[in-house]
Amino acid sequence: MMFRGNSMQSEIIIEEVLLKRSQQKKKISPVNYKERLFVFTQRSLSYYDYDKEKRGNRKGSVDVKKIRCVETVDIEEQTPVERQYPFQIVYKDGLLYIYGTNEDSRRQWLEALQKEIKNNPYLLNKYHPGFFTNGKFLCCNQSCKTAPGCAIWELYNSLHSPSNVSKRLPGNLKLNRPSLPPIPGEAKSPLRIAVAEYDYQPQGQSGISLMKNHKYYILAEKDSDLWRVRDADGNEGDVPRTHLRERFETASETRKETGSCENDSPEKETPEDYEWFAGDITRAQSEQLLRQKGKEGAFMVRKSSQAGKYTMSVLSLAVENKNGTVKHYHVHSNSENKVYLAHNHCFDSLPKLITYHQHNSAGILTRLRHPVSTKLKKVPSSAALGNGLWELRRTDIVLLKELGSGQFGEVQLGKWKGEYDVAVKTIRESSMSEEEFLEEAEIMMKLNHPKLVRLYGVCTEKYPIYIVTEYMANGSLLSYLKDHGKELQPFQLLQMCHNVCAAMEFLEHHQFIHRDLAARNCLVDSDSTVKVSDFGMARYVLDDQYVSSVGTKFPVKWSAPEVFHYSNFSSKSDVWAFGILMWEVFSLGKHPYELYDNAQVVEKISQGFRLYRPHLSSETIYEIMYSCWHEIPEQRPTFHQLLSQIESFQNDEQP
Ligand code: ADP
Repeated sequence: MMFRGNSMQSEIIIEEVLLKRSQQKKKISPVNYKERLFVFTQRSLSYYDYDKEKRGNRKGSVDVKKIRCVETVDIEEQTPVERQYPFQIVYKDGLLYIYGTNEDSRRQWLEALQKEIKNNPYLLNKYHPGFFTNGKFLCCNQSCKTAPGCAIWELYNSLHSPSNVSKRLPGNLKLNRPSLPPIPGEAKSPLRIAVAEYDYQPQGQSGISLMKNHKYYILAEKDSDLWRVRDADGNEGDVPRTHLRERFETASETRKETGSCENDSPEKETPEDYEWFAGDITRAQSEQLLRQKGKEGAFMVRKSSQAGKYTMSVLSLAVENKNGTVKHYHVHSNSENKVYLAHNHCFDSLPKLITYHQHNSAGILTRLRHPVSTKLKKVPSSAALGNGLWELRRTDIVLLKELGSGQFGEVQLGKWKGEYDVAVKTIRESSMSEEEFLEEAEIMMKLNHPKLVRLYGVCTEKYPIYIVTEYMANGSLLSYLKDHGKELQPFQLLQMCHNVCAAMEFLEHHQFIHRDLAARNCLVDSDSTVKVSDFGMARYVLDDQYVSSVGTKFPVKWSAPEVFHYSNFSSKSDVWAFGILMWEVFSLGKHPYELYDNAQVVEKISQGFRLYRPHLSSETIYEIMYSCWHEIPEQRPTFHQLLSQIESFQNDEQP
């Protein structure tokens, strides 16, 4: 019940049973909370004992003229549900903390009080957004209750302005509106609460009715349309989420932009600069990554499917199931280009919004504590992901985006344990003779060289099988040469050949034959280092066109004569392919024997014909590649010899 009237000073403007915090006038007095009937007139704010629906003794009163500030107070994370809407009254002789029964109740009290105090002398232009608790303000640690405020009180200016015409107070404030009872065992959790925006009558048996302006616990989001809620009487049911508005606090976030209690780090330019910015990942991927992080308040911001918009995703472990709950919040923007989650909290930029919610849960699931980064992070070169085991846990890997598609299936960028970048080859069923591959994968994992793309492990328990390797940010050497070759100097091209040769010398030393060496099977790292990939993999391809030398996809143009004639692979046939690869490098990714098909190449090679010298290649370099194409395998150099030739050439050429 609420009464309005302006004619007589004693007429009640608003009254309601509210919780009041003890004032701790003596330092040692404990904090407690009592229900009082608050009665506000133009002259005073008084509070009374309230028992059996009757006003009892007056317990205290504040002279309206002495009030200097009326504002919300920031709540702490583990605040019980009945104390979610605190506001403060700072007056000449003290500080009073009162709790609205819900957001509406608090807003109406603030509006009523602020309207009446607007012509008071000595209004404050700064205030304390945090509680004074145990002898100090939580916002700034000042220990004197009358210490000057640490944050700008935004309303100060508007209260002085003559244009400030107070809004009409709605007349439906109910006396002693019941608070929601705490959920047993969950009282300490950051519970989510929603306020009904409309009345609702349940359609089926699983629903419950909603009453406008009443609050409800959100127990679960059943799908995008239905929420499971609990009302004040403990009834639970499903209701359309369109009828509810999740409760957001009205704490004064603006202090962060004015006179903050905490020191924020200097603002960076764009969201991309921040660790929490995840860019183009999907809702499902963000949930997987947050769950992998597995920490309360793990969060990230990603691009929404609507162009130019963002979604913030946050994990809380405190509710529902043991894997936690991930919530996704749309970041809206208003006509003034301010961003907000709830329209009463607007910020100049996304980073400012995030900074605010790092300090205040303010209606979101939990405070943002641990940014989860999708920024690139390499597995340290000494690390073995599976602790030496080659079978990795599939649940440790989140697939982020497609990098390309290969012989066996797609290749994806993945995050291992929410932290390290890996490339994941997903193997389609029956594209690979996996049994044979798995027998050898362990050996391949041990082939550990800085210029070999590292094989970290496999996930084999179901399809698609994963082959998990080192991630190479610049993709395949072939496309790199085509796209960036013109920016490279000949000595850099030679360095690329050197990288490949070093890896191949290592394989040669371990008597391991690559079988499919070509620029398309090498990868380029973020620092332009080239590494050899897919070593030995050709053996496991189940595609006749690719593996049989008469097949259309068989890499004839990289094959030595003994390979396309007799399938006779050796390190020396790898040397032939290396010569072709050098040619690809120095012709910036051209296709060898461009004008000939496979059959013509077989014929030409058999007649002694060889590739011409690419114009970026010196005579000496051409001699090196040419030596790889000797018809007789034994007459070709070893990788060991090739490496020292390239090195001596590099030493001669460089100043
Ligand atoms: P396959 O050898 O099975 O045909 P590839 O290994 O060539 O498949 O992979 C296809 C594409 O995927 C490559 O051209 C490259 O763009 C991308 N890719 C493969 N492995 C990686 C990796 N480790 N890091 C980054 N990109 C990769």
